[in-house]
Amino acid sequence: MVMSTENKGGEGNRLPEKEWTFSEILAQPRILERWQKVKKWFFLRESTYDMTNRCNIRCDGCYYYEGDKQFAQENRDPEAWRKLMQTEKARGITFVVLAGAEPSLVPDLCEVCHQEMPLGAIATNGLIFIPDSIQYRIHISVWGSDETSLNIRKAKNMLRRQIENYRNDPRAVFVYTFTRENIDQARNVAEILAADGCRLTFNMFSAPMGYDGSLRHTADSLKECRKAMLGLLEKYPGHLLFSPYSAVAHTHTSGLHELFSCPYPRMNPSTAIGLGRSFRQYRTDLSWNRSAACCVPDTDCRDCRHYAAGSAVVTARMFRHATDPDSFKAWLDYVDTYLAVWVMGYEKGPNLSDNPIAPPGHGLF
Ligand code: SF4
Ligand code: SF4
Repeated sequence: MVMSTENKGGEGNRLPEKEWTFSEILAQPRILERWQKVKKWFFLRESTYDMTNRCNIRCDGCYYYEGDKQFAQENRDPEAWRKLMQTEKARGITFVVLAGAEPSLVPDLCEVCHQEMPLGAIATNGLIFIPDSIQYRIHISVWGSDETSLNIRKAKNMLRRQIENYRNDPRAVFVYTFTRENIDQARNVAEILAADGCRLTFNMFSAPMGYDGSLRHTADSLKECRKAMLGLLEKYPGHLLFSPYSAVAHTHTSGLHELFSCPYPRMNPSTAIGLGRSFRQYRTDLSWNRSAACCVPDTDCRDCRHYAAGSAVVTARMFRHATDPDSFKAWLDYVDTYLAVWVMGYEKGPNLSDNPIAPPGHGLF
């Protein structure tokens, strides 16, 4: 996640009917209001941290257990984590994402991170409750109906158990990951979550390196996902943290890197500004490796449509969208969505764009 800038006039800009200046775009009151709301968060600078190499379940297609990060030794000393967080703060990090494999297995380490770094999010399968004292956003992964979860994640009654843990918890956002096989199930899952007053957002299965299994998306499944997302957005606007442009960006036949140029160090050799300079992905032994660093390491970049990746890849491309009011509104919706998904206390506003628009320099699909 980074609210950053790029050089104006980057390649691939769409050609608007007229040349808009930024002040002309901001002259529209709804745009100006949303711009002022989101720009307060431009200070966010993220890094991510693997907290433990253990997980209480084992899902097919899990990217954590790809590559060699799973073999790093665990550092379980809270004081070592405290020192790491202090050093991170000193080098300008303001937002932490605690992930791989299952952070709820090490609540004491999560607690220390929160004490030192007040803003952050935790990615969890939601089967173990994370103590209230850790006021981070909690992202609970949902991969389909309970029957599908049993097949792919080998866990029984998963959604019911996740809801029991996190119903009415203001930290919680359920993250439904669309695979090629669970598109229809999203409707039922959204209905259950909305009935229980839970908020959700969408993720796209992004294949780990070398994965060619049945969860990987095709052009047809991407189209189906977009249709399902837009339909659910219309049906559950109060529960679904998403926007029409989020649906386009994440279901396009081109992945996020091809559409927007990924700024994470793995794909971005520049160490001068933005994520290329600041982002690190720490392993459980507190080491990090620039050449492997992104929020979803060991994901195949050509297939990357991951929601966590999008939070930086799309938001960093502000100038490409500041070409006309419609493009800028779509970008603002995307940013407003991602802030609501990732930042405690940030509330999403109504989307400014009703219809999907194409990413700069690309078609709609
Ligand atoms: S819950 Fe997450 S970390 Fe654990 S196996 Fe499943 S995908 Fe991997
Ligand atoms: S996997 Fe995604 S976020 Fe990571 S470097 Fe590749 S394109 Fe970027």
